[in-house]
Parts: sequence; structure tokens; C-alpha cells
Amino acid sequence: MKLYFWGAARQVTGSMYLLEMNDGFRMLVDCGMDYEVKKNPVVNPKIFPFEASSIHAVLLTHAHIDHSGNLPILVKEGFKGPIYCTSATAELSAYLLFDSCHIQQGDYIRALARSKKNRRHLVQKPLYSEKNVSDTVRFFERIQLDQSFVPHRGIEVQYQEAGHLLGAAGILIQISENGKTHRFGFTGDLGRKNSKLLRDGIPFKNIDYLISEGTYGGRKHLSKQAPEEELAAFITSTCIAQRGKLIIPAFSVGRTQSIVFTIHQLKAKGIIPSTLKVFVDSPLAIKSTPVYDKHPELLNEEAIQFKLNYGSLFEHEHTHYLDTKNAHEALSVYYDPCIIISAAGMVEGGRIQEHVMNHIEHPTATILIAGFCAEGTLGYRLLLGQPTIKIKDKDKRVHARIAKIDVFSSHPDHDEILEFIYACKPPQLESVFLIHGELPQLEALKSAVLQIGAKKVEIPKQGQVYEFN
Ligand SMILES: [Zn+2]
Repeated sequence: MKLYFWGAARQVTGSMYLLEMNDGFRMLVDCGMDYEVKKNPVVNPKIFPFEASSIHAVLLTHAHIDHSGNLPILVKEGFKGPIYCTSATAELSAYLLFDSCHIQQGDYIRALARSKKNRRHLVQKPLYSEKNVSDTVRFFERIQLDQSFVPHRGIEVQYQEAGHLLGAAGILIQISENGKTHRFGFTGDLGRKNSKLLRDGIPFKNIDYLISEGTYGGRKHLSKQAPEEELAAFITSTCIAQRGKLIIPAFSVGRTQSIVFTIHQLKAKGIIPSTLKVFVDSPLAIKSTPVYDKHPELLNEEAIQFKLNYGSLFEHEHTHYLDTKNAHEALSVYYDPCIIISAAGMVEGGRIQEHVMNHIEHPTATILIAGFCAEGTLGYRLLLGQPTIKIKDKDKRVHARIAKIDVFSSHPDHDEILEFIYACKPPQLESVFLIHGELPQLEALKSAVLQIGAKKVEIPKQGQVYEFN
């Protein structure tokens, strides 16, 4: 059998790996969108370096677009097999894929309007339509965590808790061929220990090959404080002491729910005033939050207890979810201290850009970046600390406080990934493959993984193939 590393190899996005059996059965692990395609030209100019119709099944680790975002193209190009995933992943993926489709349509319309008439044919069209997404969702086959299933003769698969996003799973794949058995553990994306809402990820037992993410290899998260303490400090200094607004850019699925839950905990404990208004300005957050309520079996003890005591994790009389454009616009003339949580997390596009623009010149406001911001994004530029910044072609003086909070990160840092890999017993592994990270991060992680006893650590290149006999 062979394993091809078709995506998120020496980069973070575009996760896609192909397992090919000797009898011709072909199975993808993830089928994600590659946001870095311009930086690293693909080996093959087509989106897929294989025929979509030649793939028999997909194992999907979780709903994030860099893991699921090319599924509608796979279906559009002829894939007709099952897409195995947990129920929560199926539900969140549907929302995220429709959202991705709308973002692409919006980008296309704006790019057309900006381009000259004779160059309009060069504008990148959306990669897929709503119909392609509807067709894709029909192929989702829901499976239970910790229960093995057989997608094909000789292959046994089991999903287990990853702790990264609701429904996210690591995948254990056991392949028997020619009298030999190989056991692979794909981490997908890992979560942090003791994260808000979710249970901890479970290390693999009895595997031969570990395929591990390394997003934060060589990096440490800034703070090890509890999320409540750090967030409380920002809320108190901004909304109470300064009577200002705390603006938090956050991804609509995952990060937003963690932050809202933490705020509700702070209110329940009396650390911040219960009457402080919280506005969640994100239609996608409104759609995806009920999925968290629908799956209490995936929540950690802290969240379950809170729900038992207070009835809801996300509802509060002073927490308002803004769906319509009118409600969003009305917020620009709300002047009292409050917390505004809105997407996109990297402040690229979305409703958050307007909130940042409206408040960046206010010395009483704080813009609190709650997650990773890729180079070149507005979030990244804000964190550079320059005195003026260009937003939507306007130069703005920066008077608001710009700060960063790491406690809500959904990926483990260097030490935390290493702890996970250590628990998978590296001396007993044939090989560790490091993926889903930039090369310097993966190199740093590789040295550390060798030091904890791994025999062999590979950092595959895009398109690299390994054969197992
Ligand atoms: Zn992810």
C-alpha cells in the first residue's frame, strides 16, 4: 500500500492524504482548501492530482475549511463514495461549506466590479456552487467516536476525540494486506488540554505510524493562565475602568462559543457585571451554536456542570446574537461599554472589519486578537503596532489598545504537541510524519521528537509518496 501527502505538507492549509491499497482501493484523509496555493505552486496545476472519480471513500477529521473545503469540488468532479465523519462534523461542515461558497461568490462579484471590462474573464470564479455543497452533504456518513468500522475489506477505522473543534477526531486506520498489518494514527488537528467546552484529545495506542500536525512546533503560547482570568482582565480594564468597548475578532465556529461561554462563567461567578452587554455579530455563529447544544456528549465536565446549573451555555439575557444587516448597522450607534464578538478571526473581511474601523481611533476601546493571524491579514498588521493602519483603503490613526490573547487557541503549542506524541510511545513507532506546519516549525518539532526516542521522523514534501509492504 501507498500513502501520498497531497496537502498541508510543509504548510498549514490544504490537508489531503491518499491511502492506496494494492487492490486499487483509494481513500482520502481530509480534502481541504489550500489557502497558500499562491505561495507554493502546486505540483499539478489541477486542484486534484488524481481523478476524483477514482477515489472510493473520504475520512474527514473535522469541519474546518482547510480540511473539508475541497469536498464540493471532489463531488463536482465525479466522486460518489461515502464521506465518513462524526455527526457534529457533518452538521458544522454543512454550515461552513455553504458559508465558504457565499464568501467565494462575494469575492467574485467584488473582483468583477473592480476589474476592467476586457480583463473580466481572468477573474477567479467561485470554485463551487450551493448545489455542489448540497450534493456533497448527501454523501456524509455519520459514524460514532470510539467504534470501529470497515470501509473496505482489510481496512478497519476508528475515530477518537481530538479536542480541537466540536466533532473533531483523530483517525486510527488499520490496514491488512498480504498477511501484514500496518496501523496509522492521523491526528487531524489537535486541541489544547483543558480547553473550553471540549474534552481532551486522546493519544493513539498501538500504532506503527503517527501522522501528526505540527502547527505550533517550536512556539510557545504566551500564557498558561486560565482563560477566565485573562479574559476577565481585559474586560475589567476596558469595559469597567475605561467604560470602553472590547472588540474581539473570532472565528464563528469554535472560538466564538468558547469566548461566550467564558464570559457567562465570569458573570455567574460575579467577576464581571451580569448586565454588561455582549453582542455576537455573526450569522454563522448563530447557525452553528445550536450544534453545540445538540451534542452534550462531546462537551467536557465543566461545560456539562454549567449547563446543569444555569440552563444554557450560550444564552443570557444580556447576550445578543445579531443576524440581520440592520442589527449589525445599529450596533455602530451603540455607545455604552460592551463586548463585541464578530468574524472573521484574522480580521480579513466580514463584519468585524467595520467594528475595528469604527473603534480603532477610540482610546477607550480594546481590539483583542484571539487567534492566529496569517501574515498580510489585517489582524497581523494590527499586531505590528504601527501608529496608522490602512483599513478598506482609509488611513486610520491607531488610538485603541491592540492586544492578543492565546488562551483560546485551538491548537497545542510545541510542548503540548510533544506531550501528545510522547503519549503515543515514539520508541515503538516505525516512523513519525510531521505535517500541517511551516518547515521551520516542523524542523523544530522533529528535533524534539527525535529526542524523546522516535526512530525516524519524516517531514514529507507535497506529493511525496511512501510505500508500506
Ligand atoms: Zn482545524
